[in-house]
Amino acid sequence: MNIPRTTSLDRLAFDNLSLRSLPIDPETRNQRRQIRGGIHARVKPTPCPAPTRIVYAEEVAALLGLDRAACESDRFAEIFAGNVLLPGMEPHATCYGGHQFGSWAGQLGDGRAINLGEAIAVDGSLQMLQLKGAGETPFSRSADGLAVLRSSVREFLCSEAMHHLGIPTTRALSLCLTGRGVWRDMFYDGNPEEEPGAVVCRMAPSFLRFGHFEILTARRETALLKQLTDFTIRSYFPESAAISDDQERYLHWFTEVCDRTAALVVHWMRTGFVHGVMNTDNMSILGLTIDYGPYGWLDSYHPEWTPNTSDAGSRYCYRNQPPIAQWNLIQLANAILPLIGEAAPLENCLQSFAGQYTQRAEAMAAAKLGLKTYDQPLASALFEFLGGVETDMTLFYRGLADLPVTDMRANALLDTLYKPDTDAIEALQVWLDQYAAVLGQQSVDDRSRSTLMNATNPAFVLRNFLAQEAIDAAATGDFNGIHALLNASRHPYDRLPPDSPFNRKRPDWARSKPGCSQLSCSS
Ligand code: AMP
Ligand code: MG
Repeated sequence: MNIPRTTSLDRLAFDNLSLRSLPIDPETRNQRRQIRGGIHARVKPTPCPAPTRIVYAEEVAALLGLDRAACESDRFAEIFAGNVLLPGMEPHATCYGGHQFGSWAGQLGDGRAINLGEAIAVDGSLQMLQLKGAGETPFSRSADGLAVLRSSVREFLCSEAMHHLGIPTTRALSLCLTGRGVWRDMFYDGNPEEEPGAVVCRMAPSFLRFGHFEILTARRETALLKQLTDFTIRSYFPESAAISDDQERYLHWFTEVCDRTAALVVHWMRTGFVHGVMNTDNMSILGLTIDYGPYGWLDSYHPEWTPNTSDAGSRYCYRNQPPIAQWNLIQLANAILPLIGEAAPLENCLQSFAGQYTQRAEAMAAAKLGLKTYDQPLASALFEFLGGVETDMTLFYRGLADLPVTDMRANALLDTLYKPDTDAIEALQVWLDQYAAVLGQQSVDDRSRSTLMNATNPAFVLRNFLAQEAIDAAATGDFNGIHALLNASRHPYDRLPPDSPFNRKRPDWARSKPGCSQLSCSS
């Protein structure tokens, strides 16, 4: 076995601020239980038989000061699959609740996530390292605390793809196989199969969710709610922390959470990302994309599309993401109401969320078309066209950026249509004429338009079928597809060569293949 004497792993230092600042449940046995009066529960990862690293993200490693020798050592896999703890690591899980699909679900908690500790990054910031899939915790309820390879590949790749797209997200340091089989009934049809187990090491300044606040209010643990909120503001919201009046400070903070959430959802809408499970336990208090489960990316622009097979009512479809974000913020407002004492100021913040969202969304829609100012009739006509004629969202916006204003012909965009029949082409031409007219009115020149559009509309997104191809290969031990996607995701706004495997519409085979258009929650 290759065990170098010391590597940069030995220099990784920890400062477990959150564990130090918030109460820990006194019970140390790993028993499933309801937790009172605490946020944290100490729990060790379950050792696995054969940890092997599949991939790590160099950029994340660099933030931690980990070099290649460290990341490629056997010890790295031992640590980040859960077999070895570094000095300073204090593994623990946290308690949260949540509203799932609109109903209060009570205590949920980190059922298969274990925080290792807060690493001191090269820039001095604290970054929580968290293993997902490293075994049972007190919050595992009826499940096994494990994760399978397919969902772990999706989480690893999408975390990094989102970051490179400029979208706030938790990061992913590594993806390791555990050598342990995990049983999953992927189609929920009574036919479980053994799948390879895997662990992703995620990283974020904090993994606190709306649900951490909700559970305390549901349990009337108001003193602890105040302690958690004060900790959150002091640690992650310095501008709010500077305000001395309690009520003003809490409202400033809540407004900031609303604002970050609005900004986040605008990014999702811009790139065609559908989170898939926008329960309040999957909403980061820092405004990060968190918990990559049955997420997906729009291939054809279809506002009602939801990737999650468990979401029969399409509650979390693409189009619903903004109002659901607001609904979730209302639950957070209810949770912090005991700290504010009156509902009216929180209601004001919530009302302004809709205004803020609209303003940001309109600016985004204008930038996607390279316009100086938002043009409502043009945008409405576009969404009507895109929704009516099956059009590939990513290819369409990139193709549009290349059309000169003097020669906007629908024929040049035929490749972006899934069924380029005469009706579709005519409808597109009508819209292109309208677009050319607006560009003229706003005196937009082609160069600045394409520059703005190509910085707003990615050429590469982690299409579901691309991830699935990499997963299918990984299941046979071939990880090249994962590396290729990680590489491609690093420069999502760069022009892709026409023959690039990543520059294609969803192929017909992927239309109904599991993992490509419909994703199971089983992970
Ligand atoms: P999710 O739908 O993945 O956001 O998870 C909802 C809740 O179920 C969270 O409390 C998770 O920690 C928990 N959970 C999901 N999968 C597992 C698993 N395999 N073992 C234990 N807990 C899980
Ligand atoms: Mg979750």
